[in-house]
Parts: sequence; C-alpha cells; structure tokens
Amino acid sequence: MARIGIYGGTFNPPHIGHIHAAQQAFALLKLDKLLLIPDRIAPHKVLPAGSATADQRLQMLKIAAAQIPYAQIDDCELRREGTSYTYLTVQELKERYPNDELIEIMGTDMFLSFRTWRNPEMIWSKATLAVLCRGDKDEKSAILAEKEVLETLGAKVEVVPNEVTAISSTNLRRMLAFDCAAAYLPDGVLQYIRENGLYGANENYRQLPMKRLEEVVISLIDPKRVNHVLGCRDTAVMLAKHWGADETDAARAGILHDITKALRGPLQLTLCDAYGIVLDDFSTKYPKTLHALTGSLVAERIFGENKAVVEAIRHHTTGKADMTLLEKIIYVADYMEPCRDFPGVEKLRELAITDIDAALKLGLEMTLELLKKQGSEVSPASRDALLWLSGKDRCKC
Ligand code: FE
Ligand code: FE
Repeated sequence: MARIGIYGGTFNPPHIGHIHAAQQAFALLKLDKLLLIPDRIAPHKVLPAGSATADQRLQMLKIAAAQIPYAQIDDCELRREGTSYTYLTVQELKERYPNDELIEIMGTDMFLSFRTWRNPEMIWSKATLAVLCRGDKDEKSAILAEKEVLETLGAKVEVVPNEVTAISSTNLRRMLAFDCAAAYLPDGVLQYIRENGLYGANENYRQLPMKRLEEVVISLIDPKRVNHVLGCRDTAVMLAKHWGADETDAARAGILHDITKALRGPLQLTLCDAYGIVLDDFSTKYPKTLHALTGSLVAERIFGENKAVVEAIRHHTTGKADMTLLEKIIYVADYMEPCRDFPGVEKLRELAITDIDAALKLGLEMTLELLKKQGSEVSPASRDALLWLSGKDRCKC
C-alpha cells in the first residue's frame, strides 16, 4: 500500500512556500507519491481581480514543480465543472487508487476550519489528514485540541512539524507590485508572470491620478486598513487646508502612508534587501516599525511620488527633528483620523486645529508612554523629535 499525498491549492501564483511545504510533506510523511492539485474554483475564497486564469496557474505550477521532480501535477479539479470541493477530489482519487492510503495535506488555518468544509466526514473516511504545523506554542495547542476532536469523530490525523516559509500568495502579489518578489518565486515563475503581465507586475504605477491611486492602494493593503487609510487621507487634507500645506501632497501621503503595512517582518527585510537598503540597528531589531521606511521607498520607486510625500511617509511612525509641516500633518492625521478611538484622541484632535506642534508632541508622548508600558525601546528619531519640540517651546518663551 503506497502513501499518496494530496496537496491542493489555488497556486495563484505558486511560490517557494508551496515548494518547501511540498518538500517537507514528502519527506516527513514518508510519501511514495505526491499529487499537486490546482483547484478550478476554490470553495473558500474569491480570487482577486487580475488573477491568473486556471490554465496560467497550471502552467506556472508546472514550472515551479520542476524543483520537486517526485511530485506529479494532477488536473482533476481543473477538468471538473464547478466548485473544487475536496470531498469530490478524494472520492475520485480513491476510485483511482483503491488500495493506497490517501493523505490530504493542509496548513494550519485550513485544518482548524476543516469541520466547516463540505462533507468533511466523507474526506476523513477516505483519507488521512496531515497538518503542517509551524510549531509556535499557541498554534500547536490549537492543532492538538482539534486533532483530538477529529479523532473522536473517526478521523486519522498526522501532525507534521514544518518550517513554513513566511509568505502567502496575497503577500506575494503585493511583493510583485513592489518589485521585490524574486526571492519567493521558483525559477521561471517570475519570468512567466512578467511575460504574461499577471498580477499587475508590468503596470506603471508612477504618478497615478488620485482616483486610480486610491483603487491601486485599496487593492494592495489589508482590507481591514482601508477605512484607516482613507480616514488618514481625508484628515490630512483637512489639516493641510487649515494650516496652508499642499493639499495634493497631503492626500497622496495620507493614502500611501501604510502601503507596505500588510507585509510581515521578514518581508519588510526582504523589501529592504531588494532595494539595497542597509538598515540601522534599531530597524533590524524592530522590523515591525519598518513599514514607514519601506512605504516611503515604495512611494518613491513604484509610485513616483515627490520628495515631500516620500519624506512624510518615511517619518509617520516615529517623527524626527526638524519636521516639515506636511510631515507633522501626516503624523498627526494618522493618529487622529476618525477610526481612532483611545483616551486622549479628542484632546489631540483639538490641538491639531489650534497648535499642530502641540498635537505632534502629545502624539509622540503617548507613543513613548505606550512603548514604555510594553517594555519596548523608543526609536532614537522619536527622542530627537521631542527634544526638537522642547527646544521650540523654549524659543517661544
Ligand atoms: Fe503606519
Ligand atoms: Fe497608519
């Protein structure tokens, strides 16, 4: 009896995270055969606009799979009409391999939601479930608890420790737009993407008109941040009007300020690496704060924004000494836009209209206080900003 792994997915596009997971699954599950199965229509997600067609995803998977010659691409879901339910695939494969053990491979999220899939009992009656687990403590205990539940229901579950490469297809599409995805794509896939103009890889985003800029930004940021970003833009424009700064610059910096925020720490570092940026000690230690720097790089190199906009994005999390009016406005707008709700925000909103420096100072002080509570280090740039503002205060006396 052979052990046949089933590794399904949308592969939109296939990336090295998929390849590494397939390699680990093959070795650790001691598989005799591994089937890569691209879906036709994924049951749990709607593909974003501009995605590759099913045939293009298949072609890219063929290129990617050249790195794992023992894997076999199976197009059974592409040939089947309608939604690509796993239970139908497992049923079909069981008919094809009646005497072998089928092993349905999945990541943690899929495993934890497995009982909500269509006909889960049909799947576990015909296949062992294998979950690739990153091994962080919380995730492991959630997986073990779910394993117990599923086993009580009659499923056979294998947990595979896995060094998952930190990339998702969604983030990979962002990295493509930011021109720094090469490290995450198997040889040939990036070339295919460029040759076929997929995922906006060949699009020119430089100096887009405002409406188009808004559409592009919304397509690239975390959907949960859309209201924040639009709120920051509108607030920045209001403050620019009030204080006499350039309203267009304020709008563009406001909408772009968190453009790279969805990228997790390692991806921030990859972006810096791809752009040839050498980081200081603080940024290397706290990659979470890097989205201001990477956002400014993307604003400059991908969106072709002017220096004032780029610098306002660059300093929106920490501030710095000698901030321009636009830099102050973006810092404060980010802090007080309408979605913000925390003790002190009303005071900040008042000050933003009466004394922008005082609003900036209050924002910096509140951040410092929060960092202190969290036991995190304060950025040297924020200290410089506060010293600079205190100096200005003294000058007023
Ligand atoms: Fe931010
Ligand atoms: Fe923000």
